[in-house]
Amino acid sequence: MSQQGRLFADDLPQWEADAEQDQLVAQVIFPTGPPEPLDYRVPDRLRVSLQVGCRVRAPLGRGDRPVVGYCVALDAQSSTRRRLKELLGVVDRRSLLSPAMLRLTQWISAYYLCPWPQVLEAVVPAGVRGQAGTREAVLLSLAPETQAQLEQLKLPAKQLQALRHLATAAEPLTPQQLAHAVRTTIGPIQALRKKGLIVARRERIEQHLPTDVPVERRPNHVLNADQRRALEAILAALHAAEQRTILLHGVTGSGKTEVYIQAIQEVVRFGRQAIVLVPEISLTPQTLQRFRERFARVAVLHSHLTDVERNHHWQRIAAGEVEVIVGARSAVFAPTPHLGLIIIDEEHETTFKQETAPRYHAREVALERTRAERLPLVLGSATPSLESWQRCVTSEFQLIELPRRVEDRPLPVVKTVDLRTADREHRSPGILSRPLRLQIDQALADGGQVILLLNRRGFSTHIQCPACGLVIKCPHCDIALTHHRQGETAMCHHCDYRQPAPRQCPECQATGIRYSGTGTQRLEYEVRGRFPGVKCARMDTDSMQSAGHYEQVLAAFREGDVRILLGTQMIAKGLDFPNVTLVGVVQADMALHLPDFRAAERTFQLLVQVAGRTGRSDRGGRVLVQTLSPEHYAIQAAVTHDYGRFARQELPEREQLGYPPFGRLIRLVIRGPSETLVHEFGETLAEQLRSELAPLGEAYRVLGPAPAPIARLRGDYRHQIHLHGPEGLPLRQAVSTVAERLTPPDDVLWIADVDPLGML
Ligand code: ADP
Ligand code: ZN
Repeated sequence: MSQQGRLFADDLPQWEADAEQDQLVAQVIFPTGPPEPLDYRVPDRLRVSLQVGCRVRAPLGRGDRPVVGYCVALDAQSSTRRRLKELLGVVDRRSLLSPAMLRLTQWISAYYLCPWPQVLEAVVPAGVRGQAGTREAVLLSLAPETQAQLEQLKLPAKQLQALRHLATAAEPLTPQQLAHAVRTTIGPIQALRKKGLIVARRERIEQHLPTDVPVERRPNHVLNADQRRALEAILAALHAAEQRTILLHGVTGSGKTEVYIQAIQEVVRFGRQAIVLVPEISLTPQTLQRFRERFARVAVLHSHLTDVERNHHWQRIAAGEVEVIVGARSAVFAPTPHLGLIIIDEEHETTFKQETAPRYHAREVALERTRAERLPLVLGSATPSLESWQRCVTSEFQLIELPRRVEDRPLPVVKTVDLRTADREHRSPGILSRPLRLQIDQALADGGQVILLLNRRGFSTHIQCPACGLVIKCPHCDIALTHHRQGETAMCHHCDYRQPAPRQCPECQATGIRYSGTGTQRLEYEVRGRFPGVKCARMDTDSMQSAGHYEQVLAAFREGDVRILLGTQMIAKGLDFPNVTLVGVVQADMALHLPDFRAAERTFQLLVQVAGRTGRSDRGGRVLVQTLSPEHYAIQAAVTHDYGRFARQELPEREQLGYPPFGRLIRLVIRGPSETLVHEFGETLAEQLRSELAPLGEAYRVLGPAPAPIARLRGDYRHQIHLHGPEGLPLRQAVSTVAERLTPPDDVLWIADVDPLGML
């Protein structure tokens, strides 16, 4: 310790200050405590068991209440001069977070403006924290000296029997297991323990989980020239042992998954593991099968896992027993001991962004993680996010194109049907235009199958009184209710509020309420009526309440039993059914006019993805897009499968407005039951943010507060503020500074969303 330090160590007696030389100090951060770590002295008895990344029990606050926190660092000395409290115990046998993972969580905390402990709790699943599926057990083994004297020992028969059994057992046994094995009671075993012939230790043991059914292995495809180029780029990055991000822009059906698989095979050959992130929606049996056919040890992490299953997988992954982890967003935190590669398939999907704190994007986290561990990151999509695309333009990412489908299959022919004129020309009431109906007839007659996309659930999406014009809305949200046929209810798609579907206007009592606007239920009704005898299935969140049902419907479709599959975006992505010869989009412009600067991008992506579900065999495929705006560039670009054309139109508009990918954005949402308080606090926030950002000039702007597009949700009023700027850092700093200064009134809450995707 330096001279200077000793001068200030006035509350430590000299001998204690000297003893400090070899003390061990743990920095502990608490989920329910101050945002910064606190220092604790590690008593000698805990030195062996304590590792960085373990949870510990430590006295907190004036009352020294024992609280569980995370040990985030171990040090030989403390930065505080105060006398340190002592740790009470260690909770975890193994570290939950490696030093690299701890640094990653710290980065997330700083970047996404979320307290560090909250990030830790999000990264370590609840099932792992609760050690789900494990129990504390007493395990017996022979005392070290016992083995040698085994033959000479004079003992009662039962005791001798138990001792011999334990000596030859393959693994330690619990007292109950041992008693059972030699058909005795616990008595003789207790006696052996008393004599010191056997020793007992307490340990957590895992309950047995059924293992996956083995899958028949399959050989690799022979890669075509484009695939080979893509694979070589990834392998080059792997062997260079440096971070590189490779964007695989491959049209639907170009064989991206095969490239991922062969890259991972190389990673596994080097004894390392790979993480494959897919949108939750793609965690279909079909996708998983493809990985299970090629790798012996695959862990699948999806949102329907129980705590026990999740903990089981986590432990297997941490022990290095898994080669490939396929999972949704949070699998980016998989505790692989020797990570070799991260792949994000369908990188443009919005489900990679978490909508609750920490509001992280898995792509950015993966980028940070691969930077720290110097690994390649592979992003794949037929319709990359413009953020990733622009990073290729600036050479931050490396672009690899797969412009052709495998085996030279052509992309499907896409045609539009102009809904503004279709009705007049063809006199066809209903949702399906005449051209679309004819195409369906044709496809069915040729033995093909049909996918119909309508990205809105329910029966009627609009309930309105024709007399006074009242639109039936949710009493808690600023949202029109949707009519669901099942149980004749009117339902809010945001808060799940339900009421009986009205027959009469609640305002003017007029009868003859109009139910209009089409959802998937009405589409199903019409399809069944138009094509009697043809089996059809609907897929949306209403019909797919269980994962099992989803698999059933997909299996029936694969087997050809179901001929027409209709539904929301759930059916638009990832599915690979060679017999689908027609895709119909019932209304393409539904999302085009939402108050979201990404509305065109979303529309383009959805159309290209759904079109990609057809033409996946020699039978070819056609796509018919019904739309009210066939001339819109997003629809035109989708019709011609031309991503470049879309990007060339869209990027200049974004640039002009300073929107991502050219500028950075933070969205603040302020909410509460009192609109006045929400508005007033929004004003204060905005004012302070403006004064923080003012020195940086006009490029940094604060817009709002203004009512959010969904101005009321679950009874709360919602106002929003947008922060724009060319760089993200000053925006984040401004929010942090202001957050420290300002406390909202009771009943007012606010959140900051860095790089927001949801704009409603
Ligand atoms: P993408 O992910 O780019 O949409 P997929 O990986 O789903 O494409 O590939 C489409 C189909 O082509 C799959 O059934 C896959 O097994 C098959 N496939 C992939 N690569 C080859 C290849 N080199 N030769 C033949 N078939 C291939
Ligand atoms: Zn509601």
